[in-house]
Amino acid sequence: MNVLVLNCGSSSLKYQLINAATETALATGICERIGIDGKFKYKSNTGAKVEKQVTMETHETAVKCVLDALVEPETGVIKSLDEIGAVGHRVVHGGESFAQSVVIDDEVIKAIEACSDLAPLHNPANLIGINACKALMPNVPMVAVFDTAFHQSMPARAYLYGLPCKYYDEYKIRKYGFHGTSHSFVSKRMAEFAGLDINNSKIIVCHLGNGASVTAVLNGKSIDTSMGLTPLEGLTMGTRSGDIDPAIIEYIVNKEGKTVSEVIAMLNKESGVQGMSGGLSSDFRDLTIASEEGNVLAIQALEVYSYRVAKYIGSYVAAMNGVDAIAFTAGIGENDDLVRANVVGYLGYLGITLDKEKNNTKSNELYICTPDSKVKVAIIPTNEELAIARETMALI
Ligand code: ADP
Repeated sequence: MNVLVLNCGSSSLKYQLINAATETALATGICERIGIDGKFKYKSNTGAKVEKQVTMETHETAVKCVLDALVEPETGVIKSLDEIGAVGHRVVHGGESFAQSVVIDDEVIKAIEACSDLAPLHNPANLIGINACKALMPNVPMVAVFDTAFHQSMPARAYLYGLPCKYYDEYKIRKYGFHGTSHSFVSKRMAEFAGLDINNSKIIVCHLGNGASVTAVLNGKSIDTSMGLTPLEGLTMGTRSGDIDPAIIEYIVNKEGKTVSEVIAMLNKESGVQGMSGGLSSDFRDLTIASEEGNVLAIQALEVYSYRVAKYIGSYVAAMNGVDAIAFTAGIGENDDLVRANVVGYLGYLGITLDKEKNNTKSNELYICTPDSKVKVAIIPTNEELAIARETMALI
């Protein structure tokens, strides 16, 4: 059976058609600039590539474009839409309503709508994707896979903020955490890779992509994670500030006459390593080149980045009273040997020694610590789409 995995953003739609038996992607691509002018990209596992401007007024038109491309006689990968057995939707915020993936029905749609308050940019877009598929493929079962679900196992001591209790009681202000699909997938894979029993293991996953988060996974369950009510908390990221003193917001509002929303937008889009490097770049490849050329701001940004990751790892070692394995994943975690070396450089107290040669090797799954290291450290590539396809298959 084939599963169509959809990840709808406010003006984009990423998709993959995955063969569930072989767990391979038959086709992947993205629709961008939905509602603006429309750009369609498609790539099949047979080598076909399509890139074109298509007017995509709505997400429904974009889904239609994807379906048409999948069955297109020359470049498509299936003969008819009957070959799509299910659709798996990535949904960003499940609030406290969803601790697991669910088959989508009208009740679920209402519950996702109710969580939109918590993720106003993401959940409405996810719902548009769900409704578009419902209209175009009314008989195909759909599953919602939530970014927040894996973290619903966090205890109250980890998810409560030090605020008056009414803010949790009335508005459900608490830590939710994100990238749950990836943290779940990678922690399971890390346990297998290291020969650990997941039900008796202490694993820290560092998902370091454009957005980045660290999670403490105790016996297969998330017990703490660095992102919060929103994905702004935690690590210093590509363009997001991560943890800051909340009083900074009012200070900037007063100094620059900005609104709170403007400052929050700055913290989301103009901060992190991009802001710290004077606007140079949020891409670690650019920052590494600049730092090698002696750019002080780029050097500082990279130092702050690794230091913050190491501090979160340290706090999760404390939270779990130890750690068996640490996994690096996502764009930076999988590819940036310098960041990994800098982070591991802080972890000598755990009995970890970096294997420099292995750390510089481009490979799939790989230990980057020496064999005598007391804690195993490895690169474990994430695959959120495959994780969504697996969840979808498990439920239908
Ligand atoms: P997202 O899915 O959040 O957009 P990714 O996990 O794809 O992010 O990570 C994207 C980031 O990974 C890029 O911004 C870049 O900083 C980093 N990256 C990708 N490839 C490399 C590489 N070869 N070396 C260093 N950093 C890389």
